[in-house]
Amino acid sequence: MCGVIGYIGPRNATPILIEGLRALEYRGYDSAGVFVAGRGALKRSGKVSELADAIPEDFTGTCGIAHTRWATHGAPTETNAHPHCDPTGTVWIIHNGIIENYADIKAALEKDGVIFKSETDTEVLAALIGKKYTEGVLLEDAVCGALKEVRGTYGLAAASVREPEKLVAARLSSPVMLGIGKDEYYIASDASAILKHTRDVIYLEDGEVATLTREGYEISTLSRTPLDKKVETLEWDVESAQKKGYDHFMMKEMMEIPETIENTLRGRLLPKEGDVKLGGLRDVLPQIRSAKRIMITACGSASYAGRVGELLLEEFAGIPVEVELGSELRYRRHTMDPKETVLLAISQSGETLDTIEAIREAKRHGVLTLGVVNVVGSSIARETTAGVYNHAGPEISVASTKAVISQMTVLALISILLGRQNGLSSTDGEHLVSELQKLPDLARTILSRRESIQAIAKKYAKVQNAFFLGRKFQCPIAYEGAIKLKEIAYIHAEGYAAGEMKHGPIALIEPSFLSVVLVPDDSMYEKSKSNIQEIRARGGTVIAITTDGKEDDLKGLADDVISVPNVHEALLPILTTIPVQLFAYYVALERGLNIDMPRNLAKSVTVE
Ligand code: GLU
Repeated sequence: MCGVIGYIGPRNATPILIEGLRALEYRGYDSAGVFVAGRGALKRSGKVSELADAIPEDFTGTCGIAHTRWATHGAPTETNAHPHCDPTGTVWIIHNGIIENYADIKAALEKDGVIFKSETDTEVLAALIGKKYTEGVLLEDAVCGALKEVRGTYGLAAASVREPEKLVAARLSSPVMLGIGKDEYYIASDASAILKHTRDVIYLEDGEVATLTREGYEISTLSRTPLDKKVETLEWDVESAQKKGYDHFMMKEMMEIPETIENTLRGRLLPKEGDVKLGGLRDVLPQIRSAKRIMITACGSASYAGRVGELLLEEFAGIPVEVELGSELRYRRHTMDPKETVLLAISQSGETLDTIEAIREAKRHGVLTLGVVNVVGSSIARETTAGVYNHAGPEISVASTKAVISQMTVLALISILLGRQNGLSSTDGEHLVSELQKLPDLARTILSRRESIQAIAKKYAKVQNAFFLGRKFQCPIAYEGAIKLKEIAYIHAEGYAAGEMKHGPIALIEPSFLSVVLVPDDSMYEKSKSNIQEIRARGGTVIAITTDGKEDDLKGLADDVISVPNVHEALLPILTTIPVQLFAYYVALERGLNIDMPRNLAKSVTVE
């Protein structure tokens, strides 16, 4: 999920690799390392500058690989940093992504006597490649042989002590490109690492492998069928390369929502059983199952994901759930009975201080604490007893988008897992799992319609006040829509349960007051539609966010209609979040604001 760079050519590889790592730093990472043929490997937990400072002058060579790690398996320590090698120290690899079946492969290799140094999935892959790399076998054949046995995602670069003038790269669902220079070649996960040296690149597709030597490169499939690939010339500067050509990280990250959902679900669904597997919760499952109450704690958008979780857990698992902000929970009189209550904390960074303090308070009273966290090895990951990682990859924009979606997806997984233990039938489980599998493609459909959302956002970019309204599963998305419009577009916006309007807020309605109403074709459709009618009767302006098939029904009623594809109503919040985030983005764009770094805000809120 982080940075890969490789170099082979006539020049000294070391400074090129370190410079490449520096260009990849913007993504956020936790440790870094380098391997240069003839010199070996050097790693540091922490910054690239620490790695650079540790490199001796004679650490030179013409072929090497380097990595910035964003931990998924094992804490961000020096031992877990890449490159990793096989037990003989012959094959060295760097890897972005996750080897899903690493535990099974690891167990089999351990039986053969392999002793692993790190906790990573990557070292397991290195050992598997090493096992295939018997005498006379070429590195590329060993890599292909090993990759045929793994499931998961990889953007991989491999080097070998036995073939010091060769690099091998491979890709599955994690970007890898080759840079073509003059008599020199590069491997990179992101163009920004190599733009200084070349603009000619070849993008590897899933299942493709490249072998690079000083003489040139060859590309093939994993079954070694040769491929003839086109060299493309990049027009990007470093900044736009970092944003994958989008104007802002926020847009890049929203465009990553489909693959984020895929990564969050990967290896966790049991479609035939209609069930879910979450390794991180295995040991505490009996305790969670017997819980009479789940307390969810989080801040900001994560707390809205928590509210979706509240509804999902109640709906599928029948467990009473309460959501409380970290900043409130920690000061409330403690009433959680450790025998009956489980605390579930949600935080992208895993460093949100208010949430951490709420966890500590619960722990002081003996309550089992769980985390839903994106950053591996973060404080919350360490301080909770068990949990589930999001695998959403680094998020740079201050306003959280793909991570919030991933949080809701994880909560859907937990709800199905607990539901299946609490009376949810296998037929219902199967249906939910198949609906979850549809989400990435449905998210793609919504993103492909983003221009129509932009046109609507342009129309309303000057409003000064807005309500976001929704019922039941859509109520938390109303909160999410409002916070997004506040934080990046600086527009006063309030999220409300739509039925609550008549108890006060409706007094504000007049023509210049915008209401964005979430009104998908779910069990609340008619009720939410009536709320639109109430607003219209008072001259208010309405954007309706609905599901395909209901546009015509709403066109006469709302000023504008945005539509998303339909899915099980409990999973719809995962989809309706996308248009509210896009809407806020385009309004902020129209207002010419600093979208990725809104005023007064920080990405990770480590203060009370
Ligand atoms: N799964 C690997 C690890 O935890 C790769 C992490 C990354 O993508 O940076 O080390």
